[in-house]
Amino acid sequence: MIKSNKYLKLVSELKETLWINEKQKPYLRAESIINIGTERIDDAEQRLNKFAPLIEKLFPETRLSNGIIESPLKEIKNMKRKLEICNNVQISGNLLLKMDSHLAIAGSVKARGGIYEVLKYTESIALKNNLITEEDDYSILAEKKYKNFFGQYTIQVGSTGNLGLSIGITSAALGFKVKVHMSSDAKKWKKDLLRSKGAEVIEYNSDYSKAVEEGRRISDLDSMSYFVDDENSINLFLGYSVAARRLDKQLEDININVDDDHPLFVYIPCGVGGAPGGITYGLKTIYKDNVHCFFIEPTHACCMLIGMVSGLHDKISVQDLGLDGITHADGLAVGRPSKLIGKMMDHILSGIFTIDDYKLYDNMRSLYETENIKIEPSACASFQGLAMLYSSEEGQKYIKKNGLQDKMNNSTHIAWATGGSLVPEEVNKTFLETFLNK
Ligand SMILES: *Cc1c(COP(=O)(O)O)cnc(C)c1O
Repeated sequence: MIKSNKYLKLVSELKETLWINEKQKPYLRAESIINIGTERIDDAEQRLNKFAPLIEKLFPETRLSNGIIESPLKEIKNMKRKLEICNNVQISGNLLLKMDSHLAIAGSVKARGGIYEVLKYTESIALKNNLITEEDDYSILAEKKYKNFFGQYTIQVGSTGNLGLSIGITSAALGFKVKVHMSSDAKKWKKDLLRSKGAEVIEYNSDYSKAVEEGRRISDLDSMSYFVDDENSINLFLGYSVAARRLDKQLEDININVDDDHPLFVYIPCGVGGAPGGITYGLKTIYKDNVHCFFIEPTHACCMLIGMVSGLHDKISVQDLGLDGITHADGLAVGRPSKLIGKMMDHILSGIFTIDDYKLYDNMRSLYETENIKIEPSACASFQGLAMLYSSEEGQKYIKKNGLQDKMNNSTHIAWATGGSLVPEEVNKTFLETFLNK
């Protein structure tokens, strides 16, 4: 299959690639196949609102937003110009940065899905044990007696770093015991931070899939333990999908329309697929065929691309193609994709880009120099999607095929900055000074 498929061959040779998903369908047809329904996003959104007073109490940093964890959306004109120069392309439309890098508590996109799933679990335990009723003000759960009660339970998760931070920090604040199973890619500062919050960090000398597998196994042995399953969790997915509702309001606030004449392009870095998948689904429910969602993966760990291209989803890993799965983009260092996500994305995703690691650092420096914004290397993958849409033959074909040539001047592009604000200053400094060979 590798030899006969153009895209599998390209990525197996570590070539930067744009793969357009020919299985994408008109949204209304896709929705009837995916069959999740907007009511489930409504439900997640309402649950987050209901927990907001508790979040505000546990995390005073969220006081200004009344316990709602949301990130700024910022126009980055100078970065757009820089991308045009560096990639020798003309980018029409405007470029915005969705700064999940600066989400409260977890400093990454994982604050969406991860925190949502912990809250959903907390609610189910609290209701089952009659600690609260659905009519109560959930902020009472910050009281010591409830925290002690939650201390009987353990929450566990496998992570390359950021999901562990999100789950670990939130669970510990609620009183749960926490075990985070970290892959070899996880950065030391992330482990240190988690330990300082009271989480137990278990380190593995292997990749993310193994950390998840072990975490799941150990958790399943304990009836008082709950495993947050990044590969299969519909709750994580729903937590991520709420992002779209909030983004819609932000776009409205700055008078940006998304309609038949004003297409929206969104570029999201992808690891196992949960975060970009949930955000994509949420966006499609709102903007339907007027939003074009793309994932970006490292050339060495392009698991979603190979899973979707081959149709094998979680039955194929980058190692099967002879790739090592090793990348400086620690948040994206995943060798085997989520099947749950891949099967949904078959119907709604526009395509996937792969990117060389050295460009992560180049784009990181560019963003810092032009906009004075610091985000982590994984998050910088998003910019290359935009540049490659314009510079590649496949990208131009996509624009033509969808009848978008005359609309590109009215287009809006969102680079999703998936993480970065918790990175310690000295680590950031090292990142900014990192130059990799092409
Ligand atoms: C986790 C993560 C992603 C991708 O999310 P997945 O759910 O693994 O696909 C992207 N960027 C950063 C910084 C992350 O931590």
